[in-house]
Amino acid sequence: MPVEPPIETPASLADAYAALAGSTADAPIIPIAGGTDVMVRITGEIGEPPARMVDLSRLAELRGITVDGTAVIIGAATTYTEMRRSDVCREHLPALVEAAATIGAAQIQNRGTLGGNIVNASPAGDTLPVLLALDAAIVVGGARGERTVPAADFWVAYRRTALAPDELVLRVRIPVAGGREARFRKVGTRRAQAISKVVLALAWREDHGAPASAWSDVRLALGSVADRPIRARATEAVLEGATPTPETADAAAESLAAEIHPIDDVRSTADYRRVVAARALHRMIRDAGGW
Ligand SMILES: Cc1cc2nc3c(=O)[nH]c(=O)nc-3n(C[C@H](O)[C@H](O)[C@H](O)COP(=O)(O)OP(=O)(O)OC[C@H]3O[C@@H](n4cnc5c(N)ncnc54)[C@H](O)[C@@H]3O)c2cc1C
Repeated sequence: MPVEPPIETPASLADAYAALAGSTADAPIIPIAGGTDVMVRITGEIGEPPARMVDLSRLAELRGITVDGTAVIIGAATTYTEMRRSDVCREHLPALVEAAATIGAAQIQNRGTLGGNIVNASPAGDTLPVLLALDAAIVVGGARGERTVPAADFWVAYRRTALAPDELVLRVRIPVAGGREARFRKVGTRRAQAISKVVLALAWREDHGAPASAWSDVRLALGSVADRPIRARATEAVLEGATPTPETADAAAESLAAEIHPIDDVRSTADYRRVVAARALHRMIRDAGGW
């Protein structure tokens, strides 16, 4: 019978930082938000169970969705259900809302948080390509102060992040860019309760009111095709300055199939992932071009 690990429930961020003091890579004190990833590990059947935990649920500093003119700011402990229901997210971040709607099912969306998805750092984490494509900045904090890590620098290796063991993710800043478009596509075995075989997010800018104008600031990010969520920079270069024509879609799909190096695993094969990622990108460009 597994023993339930001791858990502290700090009432303030300062108390949470104090509770995390002494957390190291070898002896981590595990923050718990929604618990939808942590509780799966609690029996010890999947990896090392947490020895000590810090509950983040009372920290008002980690909650809420606001917009400040240049960015949408989402507290780390914001749930998927809150993002789906948020007028701010629906207006400015429809691709993130779409990603949130594909995660687990209602129970997971009610508990699971954006911060948990970020720190769990699964290569298949569904919000992570969206954060990469939208140039999100991840604000982290600890007893030594706060710092901001661009999403592009946050996932550093397989399930490893730029976060120190005694730091928390506090919030995510997602720039609100005029004329930016973004699309999300998840491919899994089912429409709910499915871990992604491939997940893509594509963002670009175009002149307002001119959908056939050349794309700029193109960002293409993928999950489940590498040991961490990645940007496909060679394919971004193919799309930068291009218009969404059939020729562009063909060139971008060919580029992406050559650029990614997925693996075979229990959920899918490398070949399937490569072909599906290229087809999904082709479809996104076709939809954007309206042909
Ligand atoms: C049935 C089921 C279905 C699922 N389906 C999907 C899916 O479709 N797509 C998907 O991407 N994921 C899925 N997940 C995984 C999970 O729900 C998500 O990753 C979720 O976002 C985790 O959030 P949480 O708040 O529950 O994290 P927790 O379990 O509380 O924590 C996850 C990790 O993040 C750390 N952590 C949490 N918050 C912070 C913080 N603010 N600062 C520092 N560290 C923090 C914890 O220490 C832990 O390491 C599923 C899980 C289950 C059980």
